[in-house]
Amino acid sequence: MRLPLLEDLGDVRDKRVLVRSDLNVPLAVSDSDGKTIADDFRIRQAVQTWRWLVDRGAKVTVCSHLGRPKGKPDERYSIEPVRACVQKLVPEVTVLENLRFNAGEEGNDPAFVQELIKDQDIYVNDAFGAAHRSHASIVGPPRFLPSAAGLLLAQEFEMLGNLLEDPPRPFLAILGGAKVSDKIGVIDALLKKVDTMIIGGGMAYTFLKALGHNIGDSICQVDQLDYARRVLDGDKRIVLPTDLIVASPEGDVQTVKREVPEGFEGFDAGPETRTAFADEVLASQTIFWNGPLGMFEDQRFEEGTRTVAEAMAKTAGTTVIGGGDVVSAVNGFGLGDRMDWVSTGGGATLELIEQGDLPGLAALREAPRA
Ligand code: ADP
Ligand code: MG
Repeated sequence: MRLPLLEDLGDVRDKRVLVRSDLNVPLAVSDSDGKTIADDFRIRQAVQTWRWLVDRGAKVTVCSHLGRPKGKPDERYSIEPVRACVQKLVPEVTVLENLRFNAGEEGNDPAFVQELIKDQDIYVNDAFGAAHRSHASIVGPPRFLPSAAGLLLAQEFEMLGNLLEDPPRPFLAILGGAKVSDKIGVIDALLKKVDTMIIGGGMAYTFLKALGHNIGDSICQVDQLDYARRVLDGDKRIVLPTDLIVASPEGDVQTVKREVPEGFEGFDAGPETRTAFADEVLASQTIFWNGPLGMFEDQRFEEGTRTVAEAMAKTAGTTVIGGGDVVSAVNGFGLGDRMDWVSTGGGATLELIEQGDLPGLAALREAPRA
């Protein structure tokens, strides 16, 4: 299951290297100079591989998708703001236009693969966040060029792989977010590995309802109640919130036990729950966290997510977070640097945990040798 690494490429001096990075960053519109990058985490994480190659004399061309243009050029998704940021960090690299301006990218069209690898000697995949997609730039070039995983991709694979292999115990998984159905694959995969699982955030209400509690107007997936019951009846320890912060549409915010009053909706973990979740973190040797524990976008409901992030920052255990929103939440609290690993993948992180491998990784292993 080993990946070919940059060192396996031999001498890269004067070699032309196509690097697939994941520079799919959120953009914000500013009135002065058009679009700005709202969160450059993925770009900062991508730099190390470009530097490694440039420092060894390679000629580097970087490519990425950005947003969801529908297979044709769309000025709203121009790579330009990303290119400007990249070239400030590593001026030596060339950045191609948004891969998804060509329908061949998502369609994995052989002609588009040929276009990408034209005049290139080597392919490096560093786009962990896109490695679960069988798109042209991910699975195409390694069929033809000597290929390797970039430094970020290799680190992601190692950190997430370690979780699944032989993690120091107790191993705690914390799952939150809005929908149970988004996370069933991950819940099932992690239940086989962990000692304890915290289920919080919006997802918890389906489980609380399955236990027979009143959840008022809280988010709930009634079609997942049987699934929730099965998880609760399983042999792993499941920890759910014992108190909740609820609000009415009029803005009446209350702390309640597990019974949500009529006309109220649950948005965050209550104080007792926050302490209990933090204690679970501090009592564990390995912690994996996906999905925020409340509607953290509203400051009134960020406390559950913040308390757990602070416990994760403090603990001596190995801490790994993955997913889109939980990563923005933790970075927003300024605590990202205090984690052992913050994954750049959303769907890719979850799919690697579920499947143990990804199409982009398999393609690298089958690539011709350098
Ligand atoms: P991630 O991107 O980390 O995998 P998800 O996409 O599954 O997480 O879920 C994130 C969303 O879940 C956030 O927008 C957050 O507001 C929402 N959420 C968390 N708790 C609740 C809740 N109690 N009620 C409604 N939405 C919630
Ligand atoms: Mg999300």
